[in-house]
Amino acid sequence: MVHGLVMFSGGLDSVTATHLLRNQGLKIKALHFVLPFYSGLGSSYKEVRRYADALGVPIRIEEEGEEFLDMILDPAFGYGKNANPCMDCRIARLKKAAKIMEEEGASFIATGEVIGQRPMSQRLECLYTVEKKANLQGILLRPLSARLLPPTKVEEQGLVDRERLLAISGRSRKVQLEYAREHGLIHATPAGGCLLTHADPARRFNELVSHNQKISLNDFKLLAWGRHFRLSPLCKIIVSRNESENGILEKIVTAEDYFMFMAEIPGPVAILRGICTDDEISVAASVLVRFSKARNSGTVKVKVFHKENTFIREVESANDQYCQAIRI
Ligand code: SF4
Repeated sequence: MVHGLVMFSGGLDSVTATHLLRNQGLKIKALHFVLPFYSGLGSSYKEVRRYADALGVPIRIEEEGEEFLDMILDPAFGYGKNANPCMDCRIARLKKAAKIMEEEGASFIATGEVIGQRPMSQRLECLYTVEKKANLQGILLRPLSARLLPPTKVEEQGLVDRERLLAISGRSRKVQLEYAREHGLIHATPAGGCLLTHADPARRFNELVSHNQKISLNDFKLLAWGRHFRLSPLCKIIVSRNESENGILEKIVTAEDYFMFMAEIPGPVAILRGICTDDEISVAASVLVRFSKARNSGTVKVKVFHKENTFIREVESANDQYCQAIRI
């Protein structure tokens, strides 16, 4: 049995929050959520496990699926600067955490949130809204700002010593950094939000939504990887950027997609997705060649898999101007 769960990203704030509680002798379990971009790809999330191990706490990793997609397509609280529905995302994750809390027999959920640290989701009124919407009033503990907030049930009952928690507010991370240094804590470099807060994936997401009535989890997953090009309103091609992405695209490709790679030399791979003409298959192959070592080799062979069929396209590299014009 554990006393509490900590929403754990492995970043400075969640590592500090976990240590503050662990240091009081509480039994803590780290709970890490994986965005659907990365879920189902067989990753072991080594880094985040390493940070939890260093704190001496067990970790539970939860991969998010279709439900995340429903939420991001229609967030009740809207988006942040890019395609990040932070308020809805936090509420949804806390609701899931509440179920896990019951399963684990825990009494509270803690986060590394700090009052006023992020403009949208960590304003004081937003913290209250999130805990109300997640039905976690009195149960959600923010150890880094706890002494500036009303006491939770576990503080009132004496399970958690409020006096040993912090009273941080604002954007500076000075106190957490000093705490981490003092206690020899290791943590991830602050990233400032997930992929959805970044301009490129957000643009791809908006572009996808503008072309597709129905978006699958697999479409969504693909947004995080490769270079994306729009060949027509009905189809797009995604070309891997390095060897590790070759393996990832091989895992993401579906039976309906065209899968392409260089027939005679190692190089990038590509997924051609959607309804496409025979000409568009050749154009896609020429875009793939542009990102291979054979881009200046004249006509080269590209192998294409589609359903039960395998065939070769002989094409020259697409030119840079064209690739730039169709890049998403
Ligand atoms: S930054 Fe991304 S993962 Fe974090 S709350 Fe916002 S949408 Fe969710």
